[in-house]
Amino acid sequence: MSQVEVSRKPPALPLATLIGRELRNEKVEKPFVKYGQAALAKKGEDYFLIKPDCQRVPGNLATSFSVFAIMDGHNGISAAIFVKENLLDNVLSAIPQDVSKDEWLQALPRALVAGFVKTDIEFQQRGETSGTTVTFVLIDGWTVTVASVGDSRCILDAQGGVVSLLTVDHRLEENVEERERVTASGGEVGRLNVFGGNEVGPLRCWPGGLCLSRSIGDTDVGEYIVPIPHVKQVKLSNAGGRLIIASDGIWDALSSDVAAKSCRGLPAELAAKLVVKEALRSRGLKDDTTCLVVDIIPYDRPILPPTPRKKQNVLSSLLFGKKPNYFTNKTTNKLSAVGVVEELFEEGSAMLAERLGKDFPLNANSGLYRCAVCQVDQAPSDGLSVNSGPFFSPGSKPWEGPFLCANCRRKKDAMEGRRPNRPKVSA
Ligand SMILES: [Zn+2]
Repeated sequence: MSQVEVSRKPPALPLATLIGRELRNEKVEKPFVKYGQAALAKKGEDYFLIKPDCQRVPGNLATSFSVFAIMDGHNGISAAIFVKENLLDNVLSAIPQDVSKDEWLQALPRALVAGFVKTDIEFQQRGETSGTTVTFVLIDGWTVTVASVGDSRCILDAQGGVVSLLTVDHRLEENVEERERVTASGGEVGRLNVFGGNEVGPLRCWPGGLCLSRSIGDTDVGEYIVPIPHVKQVKLSNAGGRLIIASDGIWDALSSDVAAKSCRGLPAELAAKLVVKEALRSRGLKDDTTCLVVDIIPYDRPILPPTPRKKQNVLSSLLFGKKPNYFTNKTTNKLSAVGVVEELFEEGSAMLAERLGKDFPLNANSGLYRCAVCQVDQAPSDGLSVNSGPFFSPGSKPWEGPFLCANCRRKKDAMEGRRPNRPKVSA
């Protein structure tokens, strides 16, 4: 463009000024994130992850986000450690490069599904038998995205005193849809039979005896214990809110409301200690107990203002916004009440085809397709997991999902019960 043309327009702002302005706006708009952590070990199988300083665009502070996660391991610690070390990278590698912030956040739920499944496949390849719950929370500005398998919950105490659950418990005892899914995929659900034929304890899946219906790891249990997470994405109002993420050592002792109320008005660090103390006081140390408290605080206010402790107005519970079509259980959902929190996304289906979209990206240069789970490029003839199309093999059931490599295709079939079981690992 010539200088003459430029001079005809109103004086343009230098790019640096525009970027600077955008950064400042972003900064004003972005809340502070403050956090605290507390734990008491019984078996030493709880792990957590705190990464407050991630960036969508490396080196650009305006693109920062933070990640918090809890992994409650069972039958050993290796799955929990593996998740801590690999899950975040696997999720991020499934998000397209060079997209806007909004596109990035929209791509996140699908990337979380891909990252969870990829991490599970990679862990299984190590031939170890432990498993873990995962509750993975990503905070970008006012937007909170939570992905979870198992029963480590994340609750939100939004301003206005509305406490809501952002996760779903994948416990066979409490989740009838998960029981039906596991049974339909070839698992047996029942209680432990003790001497004399009496049934005791919670519902478990056999073989293996796991009480959870979803986890990462558990190579020695059936593939119907899937790593496909429930994902929920919400946007807080600019009044902010508090997240409490904790393992079942907390939630077996305290309700969401009691946990939230027990620490209101206190800074996050102290709040986490108090929640653990409260759980210990009510139930004793029966299990590993880990708690993360994360405050999302308006930029111009240094601490989260205390929430009035009055009871929730009956009227507010009548003002629910629209609900997503799919619920994995019938948890009361108070989030949309009185405009406190905007629900952006919720999906909990255990079917990969419903979670990964239908993209079928062909690299025109290489003639390869990219696997929607593990992101490897593979020739269509190798992978073959395709919408109806020229590569579709007539012998198998139509697949409505995206391209999957041969390895991830096998995993998908096994999770849906079309392959008897994963290979047994000898003890
Ligand atoms: Zn793959």
